[in-house]
Amino acid sequence: MPQPPSAYDFFADSCLDAAGLNLQAAIGSDRLTPSLRADIEAAGQPLCANGSLILFGNGGPTFWRAFKHHCPAGEHPVDAFSRQVVSEFMARRFPELGFCFLYPGASVVPLQSLGQLAGWHHESPMKVGINDTWGLWYAYRALILVDAVLPSSLPVPSTSPCAVCHDKPCVAACPPRALEQHALRLERCIDFRLQEASACSHQCLARWACPVAPEQRYDAEQVQYHYGHSLPHLRLWRSRSSGGQK
Ligand code: SF4
Ligand code: SF4
Repeated sequence: MPQPPSAYDFFADSCLDAAGLNLQAAIGSDRLTPSLRADIEAAGQPLCANGSLILFGNGGPTFWRAFKHHCPAGEHPVDAFSRQVVSEFMARRFPELGFCFLYPGASVVPLQSLGQLAGWHHESPMKVGINDTWGLWYAYRALILVDAVLPSSLPVPSTSPCAVCHDKPCVAACPPRALEQHALRLERCIDFRLQEASACSHQCLARWACPVAPEQRYDAEQVQYHYGHSLPHLRLWRSRSSGGQK
């Protein structure tokens, strides 16, 4: 399997890499736009001038395989595993620094905007982030606020594969045509996913159809896990939006 460019692997920490948290970006608070700063502070943490954010992501299938090996108990085992790996990393690498988790957590934080700042994220027709190394097969796993100024990582010089993908097989692969007309019609996607025996209940056919970085695709079990977990939230959302629950 080809090694990712080191630009994604800012800390080059073998334990993080073995756990699949092989994307890291250190972002000084001075690099945040006012709106990004406001969004992060809305998550409940004031950002002082002497603070830094560290964003952790997983690229490819390694994270799931490491997670399966450790498989922590609890209601949110993937989040628990991410927190555990990050906490161990901080204790090992920066034992003198205090930090807190902004994600996973109860508040919504602008992960995709931070991913754009890090150079990881370009928008795809499905709105899932894409880049030329990991394709659609990466995800944000943790965001921490550190009480010190750390050296910032440079934005990864990635490009958008979608900009040069003229056939766009993902668009044709979506059964309810939710990706046509250059916009994700989310309700159409959700309605299809919630149909009985839907082909998209536990996967996104459009995502599988993307030809970029096929060697980085998640294992089918991981895909089924994540998409399956989103179904109860979609049912609740549809129930509320149709007036079934006030
Ligand atoms: S198939 Fe093409 S347009 Fe669709 S996500 Fe992949 S690169 Fe982008
Ligand atoms: S999950 Fe299915 S319906 Fe939704 S965008 Fe993907 S292919 Fe289309």
